[in-house]
Amino acid sequence: MKSVTILGSTGSIGVNTLNVIKQHPDRFNVFALTAKNNVDQMVQQCFEWSPRYAVMADNNSAEILGSRLRDRGIATEVLSGTDGLQLVAGHNDVDYVMAAIVGAAGLLPTLAAARAGKRVLLANKEALVMSGQLFIDAVKSNGAVLLPIDSEHNAIFQCMPGGFSGDLEQAGVRRILLTGSGGPFRTTPLDELQNMTPDQACAHPNWVMGRKISVDSATMMNKGLEIIEACWLFNTNVDHVEVVLHPQSVIHSMVEYADGSVLAHLGNPDMRTPIAHALAWPDRMEAGVAQLDLFKLARLDFEKPDYKRFPCLALAREAMQSGGTATAILNAANEIAVEKFLAGVIRFTDIAHIVKETLEALPNHNADSLQAILDDDNAAREFAINAVTGNVHA
Ligand code: NAD
Ligand code: MG
Repeated sequence: MKSVTILGSTGSIGVNTLNVIKQHPDRFNVFALTAKNNVDQMVQQCFEWSPRYAVMADNNSAEILGSRLRDRGIATEVLSGTDGLQLVAGHNDVDYVMAAIVGAAGLLPTLAAARAGKRVLLANKEALVMSGQLFIDAVKSNGAVLLPIDSEHNAIFQCMPGGFSGDLEQAGVRRILLTGSGGPFRTTPLDELQNMTPDQACAHPNWVMGRKISVDSATMMNKGLEIIEACWLFNTNVDHVEVVLHPQSVIHSMVEYADGSVLAHLGNPDMRTPIAHALAWPDRMEAGVAQLDLFKLARLDFEKPDYKRFPCLALAREAMQSGGTATAILNAANEIAVEKFLAGVIRFTDIAHIVKETLEALPNHNADSLQAILDDDNAAREFAINAVTGNVHA
């Protein structure tokens, strides 16, 4: 029986994780659930799962949750803030931590899980994009097991040789082919992009996800963050990661070997597959995912990405090449820009402008301490907020 903490249990990945766990009551029990401020959903989740702890990042929400759970006679202990998140991520009685908070807010709790030597199921790619080597070192030096939940990286992991040591050349791997659907605006005329609304950007053709990652998919910043994520997870550089547009999202990524073999991972676009894979690994278990119908699918298409349409892809590549805190700056500026776009303050095409301006303006530092990373994350947010003011189109 494995005890699981789910960071971000009220989100799209969190809910899918609970769905998979529900199919295997003999294998997993829920130790802690966490959310930002959605009290109603957390009350329901606590009622259904009776976790030992529930954590609300927002203090006020934690107070409300506490009194509502007491009223219903639910014994779950309520904690709050980053301290509470870190406590349930690193607790002695926890085996697995699903890291599914969105954005930089997930960094400290995810790092706490790595430092405590847990099995870390990583959906929160922003945490790794920000902290890179520091995070990988924390995993290694504390005996944690890092398994990717991002569908592409989970697919790559499955296409790597068993027991992959971290040396791609020794494993005979030539390239990683990272697939992406191209999002909702793959074929939108370029001059119309600036008028796209938040709802249009969030209408992903193949996946149902939280709003932040949905906008990232529309700008393809998501694929940019995933290039960086792949470099850290598989110990390689951007020259060995090629992005392939594949509108059907059935191939979830590929690994090309020295002998010309290309191994692909296929499946329906359903996050319960990578979640069940990482929960059961190295075994396999039922995920509740529909069988892939190849006859209905009939064809698979591929295209080269258009860097003019998706400038965020190039920005992410360049940030990874610069190294240091550049990827933390990229991520922070993007989080601010996406938030302002979703709030209707800036245009869709301003997102890339703001990230570019921020990267150009801020100095890049060595990313060897958490403080250096958090300082530059803060500086980038401050700069991006000011840049937004210059980009407001009333
Ligand atoms: P979501 O917006 O649906 O859920 C986010 C969760 O994080 C919620 O439970 C929310 O309460 C919590 N949260 C938000 N802000 C917080 C804060 N400041 N402090 C503490 N908790 C906070 O997002 P999602 O789509 O589930 O994505 C979660 C992560 O997984 C993201 O990093 C995303 O890139 C990654 N991911 C998601 C998918 C997907 O299919 N949804 C696929 C691949 C990777
Ligand atoms: Mg992905």
